[in-house]
Amino acid sequence: MNTNKTTLTRSPLDSLACVNERCERYGQAGQGNLIVRKVYGADRIRYLRCRVCRAEFSERKNTALWNTKVPETKAISVGEHLAEGCSLKGAARLAQVDPSTVRRLNQRLGAHGEAFHDERVQGIQIEALEADERHGYAGNKEVPAWEAELIDPVSKFVLSHVQGRRNEEMIRRLLTDGASRLADRHDLVLLTDGDASYATLFPAIFGQPYRPSRNGDRGRFPNVRFRIPRRLAHVQVIKHRQGMRVVNIELRYSHGSRKRVNEALDKLGYATPNTSAIERCNGTARRMNAHQVRRSLAFSRRADTKAALGWWGVTVYNWCRPHRSLRQQMAEPVGKKSSSNGHLP
Ligand SMILES: [Zn+2]
Repeated sequence: MNTNKTTLTRSPLDSLACVNERCERYGQAGQGNLIVRKVYGADRIRYLRCRVCRAEFSERKNTALWNTKVPETKAISVGEHLAEGCSLKGAARLAQVDPSTVRRLNQRLGAHGEAFHDERVQGIQIEALEADERHGYAGNKEVPAWEAELIDPVSKFVLSHVQGRRNEEMIRRLLTDGASRLADRHDLVLLTDGDASYATLFPAIFGQPYRPSRNGDRGRFPNVRFRIPRRLAHVQVIKHRQGMRVVNIELRYSHGSRKRVNEALDKLGYATPNTSAIERCNGTARRMNAHQVRRSLAFSRRADTKAALGWWGVTVYNWCRPHRSLRQQMAEPVGKKSSSNGHLP
């Protein structure tokens, strides 16, 4: 018996768009150009036709579930389990699907999440960013596989997510990606740990390039240098430890003025520069990703599995989960509720 006769709510036809890149209505929803040709499969998926270019395509085209053979309810269940920190095998048992199905869905969800992030996260306006790296493994415990992220401490939105070996190249990828998503890369305060790469890379990625004038009119032109604009600053929060205990926190104002930093701290409601938002986010990410759990053997065998799961976690964190610290007092309490969850206006 098929219990998956779906009760899923279909996205209205108005919210879908033609997927033919050469069509003049490409990617534009609500133009009234789509008609339903037929519905197919157990999930009653709609097969659409565009009246403008006459292309025909599944409503799942360009979605994470395109061409998957598992019932939609099961695919969604797998996605939910993975984002709650279940192992891939655990998710397979709970959703009653083959582990290979979970592996394939994980790849799909990760790739789709990354593409979605790329498309949506552009021209972002922020006051400050916090950066950090977290340790993990792929393959075996000899192979470290790190994740590094940039977070907006106000909205708790993860702006950038990169993975790989922990080195200067990784920090460069993180900062370059973050800068490319900002409306104005010259106007922010960056808070990081003490890693030297942050300080050395900061001017070239966030600063203003200029070419110093040549001495006289002979010889080579000097190399491009970078100026730190007035609205830009970088602070490093360096924790000195004795064993596991933090004994002293050193603040290093690497670039920009303290005045600019203090202005940002006021807006954030911070008494001193710190990286608490990203550290809290690290904890959340570790609970959302089975491969990031500390002191466990739950690391992934394959690096690509870990990469996909990492992206799926970021996607759910950014777009699906209400964030507790963003709760807002409601004007009028409704029953026992006096605050509503964040993420929604
Ligand atoms: Zn079309």
